[in-house]
Amino acid sequence: MSINPYGWIEESLRTIHRAKWYRSVQEIMGRPGAVVRIDGQELINFASNDYLGLAGDSRVIAAAIEATQLYGTGATGSRLITGHRPIHRELERAIAALKQTEDAIVFSSGYLANLGAISALVGKRDLILSDQYNHASLKNGAILSGAMVLEYAHGDVEGLKFLLESYRNAYRRCLILTDTVFSMDGDLCPLSKVVELGETYGCMLLVDEAHGTGVFGDRGAGAVEYLGCTGRGLIQMGTLSKALGSLGGYVAGSAALVDFLRNRAGSWIYTTGLSPADTAAGLEAIAIVNQEPQRRAKLWQNVKYLKQLLVESVPSVASRLLPSESPILCLQVPDAQTVLAVGEGLKAAGILVGAVRPPTVPTSRIRVTVMATHEKAHCERLVEGLQSLLKS
Ligand code: PMP
Repeated sequence: MSINPYGWIEESLRTIHRAKWYRSVQEIMGRPGAVVRIDGQELINFASNDYLGLAGDSRVIAAAIEATQLYGTGATGSRLITGHRPIHRELERAIAALKQTEDAIVFSSGYLANLGAISALVGKRDLILSDQYNHASLKNGAILSGAMVLEYAHGDVEGLKFLLESYRNAYRRCLILTDTVFSMDGDLCPLSKVVELGETYGCMLLVDEAHGTGVFGDRGAGAVEYLGCTGRGLIQMGTLSKALGSLGGYVAGSAALVDFLRNRAGSWIYTTGLSPADTAAGLEAIAIVNQEPQRRAKLWQNVKYLKQLLVESVPSVASRLLPSESPILCLQVPDAQTVLAVGEGLKAAGILVGAVRPPTVPTSRIRVTVMATHEKAHCERLVEGLQSLLKS
């Protein structure tokens, strides 16, 4: 009798179901926005990273269509082999100008930017020090690099210093990795202290600005700008897929760094370049970020309003709110089963949120993301829904 070598997959799926970790995908109709349609039902959307509402903006859409007409749908090959379009470099220059760095390089996603940059910068003889709550793409980039990886407790600068004191000298190069805005908690990294430690101990520092770009800072450059660390020699990565409403990742830094990544980052060299549509959409979105600070201001007004409603809500809601300094607001719930029930209950009430469970996060939580295009009534509906579902 032959053994089915794939039988374990179904067994594994059953285990995932039993643990309430099974994840399925829902189909959303129409353009993205503060209100979306799922299965014919209109839902207020608190589950999107489209913070500025640009993914459905008609100017961004028009730019993508125009680039497609001009350059076609695909980049047709690796930029090193097939060449790139003028808009690829235009986008990289626009990112560098926003970030106030010498240059930038665009990858096909933020995930690939982290894999490529980290694995190019360090190897087997090197050390990575990484915040425990860093995004999976930073963690997987660290694993791919083959470097020794040590995690410090979330936001624990003293813990990071201890690791630097204890291990820095045993390795050739050292790279510190941290999100600036933590995607599943909404809090910020103590960046200026981390930068200082990096400088003191001669370490490279790569920060993930996925949730900061377009959202934080007077110019919308990101949390690095907001936290006063522009020009401090950091390597800044980010994505075009959140506040910029497109797709693609980037690394911004010195001209030498960017030149080096073009020659050493495997996830850039061995993959097809960003599509003309995504490239042009990202470029247009950056122009809007530069020209329309009022969008950012509206986003922060909405964040303030919703936070206030949550804090002033009944204790069974207010007490669950995790400390946040961003448009990501999370409410802790006891377990995976409860978080799924609350997510479903809110959906029945016409509200879409993230119901996030382990292994994505250490503890289950309702994840709410605020957009510039939300109205006050949307926030009020959300809090009413939470109050009726989270009674104890
Ligand atoms: N870093 C962080 C902190 C993220 O939240 C994400 C997206 N979830 C990424 C990187 C990856 O970006 P992308 O979606 O462009 O691959």
